[in-house]
Amino acid sequence: MPGSKPYRGRFAPSPTGPLHLGSLIAALASYLDARHRQGTWLVRMEDLDPPREEPGAAERILSSLEQHGLRWDETVMWQSRRLPDYARALEQLRRGGLLFRCDCTRAMLGPDGACRGRCQPRQGQVGDPSALRVRVPGDCRIEFDDRLQGRQSHQLGQEWPDFVVRRKDGLDAYQLAVVVDDAAQGISHVVRGSDLLDSTPRQLFLQRLLGFPGLDYCHLPVITDRGGQKLSKQNHAPPLDDDQAPDNLRSALRFLRQAEPPPDRQHCEQILAFAVPRWAPGRIPRALAIPAAGQV
Ligand code: GLU
Repeated sequence: MPGSKPYRGRFAPSPTGPLHLGSLIAALASYLDARHRQGTWLVRMEDLDPPREEPGAAERILSSLEQHGLRWDETVMWQSRRLPDYARALEQLRRGGLLFRCDCTRAMLGPDGACRGRCQPRQGQVGDPSALRVRVPGDCRIEFDDRLQGRQSHQLGQEWPDFVVRRKDGLDAYQLAVVVDDAAQGISHVVRGSDLLDSTPRQLFLQRLLGFPGLDYCHLPVITDRGGQKLSKQNHAPPLDDDQAPDNLRSALRFLRQAEPPPDRQHCEQILAFAVPRWAPGRIPRALAIPAAGQV
């Protein structure tokens, strides 16, 4: 049961670009949640998708975290070094008869990216390259309580009927890797942006198939720019200026509606030492997105 295990949280950036205010908010919230509960806080580098990555971004992210005083426990886990573990999980699913190959082109897939039963009955004739999809029973319903966003209920069998666990280009899918790694790192609590809320039912489904324990989830509102777009590396959110680290932490705390550190707390370590005992997740707005307040 989540809650009865020791607290282990994580921040799991994809190195597609430098840290920006949106990713700092996720890093800070997961850090404060872990430290407030005397838990362990880990960093996992999700460098699983080389075509989307930016050279040097992983090192830059780690250095930015350090300069913001966000020190992690244990060693950083690099997804690029864990391919055998993903292969083992896929093998376990395959042996359970839970996977099928799919060679559909994008044009053949449904609007939700589903294969819609085209490939399942013709496994002998599926050509290469092919993706691996997991079978989701049509009536599969996944429910969970998000600490911030409340009760979530999804008809997984309708919304994600046969989602991809290994892509056609041979890369393991994020949904699989994150589940395998959360289990390997003994993660008990996930605090991350609400843009990943709709991934959670797929992750819960895979956790159950693989026999992994359930996790406690908290999906934060994401910060949007003036046009209502989520700040992200893909839409070129401005990178954080590490020389302004204390101000960046203050902006992130303000976004999370946490107590304002007094002005004489000038260093990141002092700001964090103020914020950890005062961490109040109940003060975070229960919204999926909040526009930036003049910060971007
Ligand atoms: N690597 C993912 C991202 O940067 C986050 C994964 C997670 O927190 O589960 O969007």
